[in-house]
Amino acid sequence: MNFLLGIEKDGAMSKQAQLDELKAQILEDDPTPELRSGATQLVFGVGDPDADIVFIGEAPGKNEDEQGEPFVGAAGKFLNEMLESIHLKRAQVYITNIVKYRPPNNRDPEPEEKKVFLPYLIRQIDIIKPKIIATLGRHSGGLFLPELKISQDHGQPKRITLKLAQENIKTVILPLYHPAAALYNGSQRQVLIDDFMKIPEIINLINKETERK
Ligand code: URA
Repeated sequence: MNFLLGIEKDGAMSKQAQLDELKAQILEDDPTPELRSGATQLVFGVGDPDADIVFIGEAPGKNEDEQGEPFVGAAGKFLNEMLESIHLKRAQVYITNIVKYRPPNNRDPEPEEKKVFLPYLIRQIDIIKPKIIATLGRHSGGLFLPELKISQDHGQPKRITLKLAQENIKTVILPLYHPAAALYNGSQRQVLIDDFMKIPEIINLINKETERK
């Protein structure tokens, strides 16, 4: 592996190099000039490009906008604690958002903004090829499961096929409550913690199925 160029022996680009290229592509395409001009920076994603699990939130908030990293505020601290409870560190998973620039005054991302960023998110997932995608909140869950009712479906993994330009990829979506919402709602908070505890078992099951194939 040539670390400088991110080129592996067989000439393929490393996943990190592909993610860097995708980030540069977003900067070049400038898909949401209005959001970009009101934000400090692009918040692309963080973590292990080889992660088994990708967490997807909505959009950066104030802290994320300032630091250029998703989930670094109060919701991020809660997310880190839940990861630790299943013996995972932030660096072992991958964390990103649908919308990569902070919406003004932390408003919800608009449907058009989610739509515009979706192809980049799908490409990000295609590079990482996680075993499972945990969606945080109804915006992110609803992208993959249009019929999602978060109060009923949270914590229940669902198989989906993502249709890509070159190929289709099969993956598993785990819809979860958003940590920012759950943080200040006692019952949702416990539900989210309980749902999180199912993650290792779900990954085990997927591993066993893959071994059998
Ligand atoms: N909420 C999100 O959806 N994403 C973040 O990065 C932070 C808070």
